[in-house]
Amino acid sequence: MWLNVTSDLIKNLKKKGAHRVALQFPEGLKRQSATVAAVLKDAGFEVILSGDPCYGACDLALDTLTCADVLVHFGHAPVDDQPEVIFEPYPMDFDIGVLENTLPLLKGETVGLVTTVQHVHLIPAMERFLQSKGISCSVAEGGGRTPERGQVLGCSFTAAKATGAEEILFVGTGLFHPIGIALATRARVIALDPLTGTAQEVSGDALLRRRFTVMEKARGAKSVGIIVSTKSGQQRLDLAHRLASLSPVAVIVTMREVNPDELLNLGFACYVNTACPRLAYDDQVRFPVPVLSPQEFEILCGVRTWDTYTIDEIA
Ligand code: SF4
Repeated sequence: MWLNVTSDLIKNLKKKGAHRVALQFPEGLKRQSATVAAVLKDAGFEVILSGDPCYGACDLALDTLTCADVLVHFGHAPVDDQPEVIFEPYPMDFDIGVLENTLPLLKGETVGLVTTVQHVHLIPAMERFLQSKGISCSVAEGGGRTPERGQVLGCSFTAAKATGAEEILFVGTGLFHPIGIALATRARVIALDPLTGTAQEVSGDALLRRRFTVMEKARGAKSVGIIVSTKSGQQRLDLAHRLASLSPVAVIVTMREVNPDELLNLGFACYVNTACPRLAYDDQVRFPVPVLSPQEFEILCGVRTWDTYTIDEIA
């Protein structure tokens, strides 16, 4: 599969007139980097590899462009406009028949269908399968941060909301995306892990209970750090300024990597995260003090009600 991807890539790089090429792989694909680099060197390119951690197209190694003509980012679709970056997808197939496992759980005749970027090429096949079982699919066109049809990210559930469906089927691994979809849409959500075949109904209730506890710990904090990421697709400075204006003890803190040691060292009593939204939800157990989402801080500051609690997304 890599060689096919790479031969397309070589054509693309030659079209751009690139000589020096920087490569960036997300953590799960880094082990393929030496092979890809060797193929590109054989094809006559000078190759530089970004060795920094990378979890998404929001975290482009744009610094490599000081010594390369083009950056090739593997495994993700773009989250914003980056003319000097080539995005190389990494499609992952699975047996469409695994959708059979969702049929006992699906209640309606129409379902909203979403997945992650690795599986978006299978959306038409999934639609055909479900239609053959008498279930019609609502799939939203791509756009903005999720350019592929039916694609969701951990920071953007637009494609799920746009289906307008009361029942949504998420196909992908992990439970963060389907929980986020449940909170963002208030729809009934079924999650299918296409690799294990596990299908289950997912609710956001447990996450809400955990977040309520975190908010209570942060109530009355004497100092608040508003975290702003310096990563290319995570910077939300306007939001951070608006949040900082809500409290006299809030200060904006810029960071590249948000890690427990740095938060401890900075010494704030709590933080509000405007970087990757997943940090606050997934990593709270690692952090020494409460790390709130923007919406949770708004609730504590009295400018939002608990009834309008929603999951944080990057617009
Ligand atoms: S901000 Fe977080 S959820 Fe969004 S693309 Fe980046 S790593 Fe993924």
